Amino acid sequence: MKFDLRAAHRHATSNREAIGASNVCGCFYCCLSYPAANVSRFLAEEHTALCPECTIDSVIGDVSGLPVADREFLVAMHDVWFAGIEIPELDSESSAPQSSGLNRSSEAAFDRLDRRFIP
Ligand SMILES: [Zn+2]
Repeated sequence: MKFDLRAAHRHATSNREAIGASNVCGCFYCCLSYPAANVSRFLAEEHTALCPECTIDSVIGDVSGLPVADREFLVAMHDVWFAGIEIPELDSESSAPQSSGLNRSSEAAFDRLDRRFIP
């Protein structure tokens, strides 16, 4: 089945309600799929979901009707929207510490942000 990859992109913005109504989400930056419940961060102004794996705002929920759990679809989207950016390998031992290290540093950045607003 063919999908309009450019039209699909609109499901990745202002999608807080759609993510809430979805069971599964997929990110076309890191090309991973995960339960919609894992998505917990949103851009404040646009209500756009941030990927729990890579913190990029390229998350689509399955309520869109798109095959968000299909890595081939996510990779195709990645090719259109992030052309030239390397896709993290899923099964590579060597890339795993690197990506989790990245996640840890963004977690730390969020923690610092949060703390600034605690009275
Ligand atoms: Zn991601």
